Amino acid sequence: MELDCQYCADCCRRSMPAVTEQEIETIARTTGKKPEEFTRPAHHAILDLYVLQNKSNGECIFLEKEEEKFSCSIYEVRPQECVDFPPEKQLPFCRTK
Ligand code: SF4
Repeated sequence: MELDCQYCADCCRRSMPAVTEQEIETIARTTGKKPEEFTRPAHHAILDLYVLQNKSNGECIFLEKEEEKFSCSIYEVRPQECVDFPPEKQLPFCRTK
């Protein structure tokens, strides 16, 4: 099945993307926020990994919603993991028309 994205933003609520040191610096410079305001350590046993924070409702801290439309407030500097997403295939939680 080919991807038929419905722009539901569920992927921005499921798991938070990992961010590299360089990406953290870029996002900090762009938003004027301190890294500790938008990242948190990922609870990974082996890797020293940081991910974006999520809001209390589970959404990515940078996900915005206006009326019924979602958008990424750091779209131009979003982490590579988000750039590479979604994969070519529909994901199990993807909504269909
Ligand atoms: S940075 Fe943007 S694209 Fe990536 S999860 Fe957050 S809202 Fe979604």
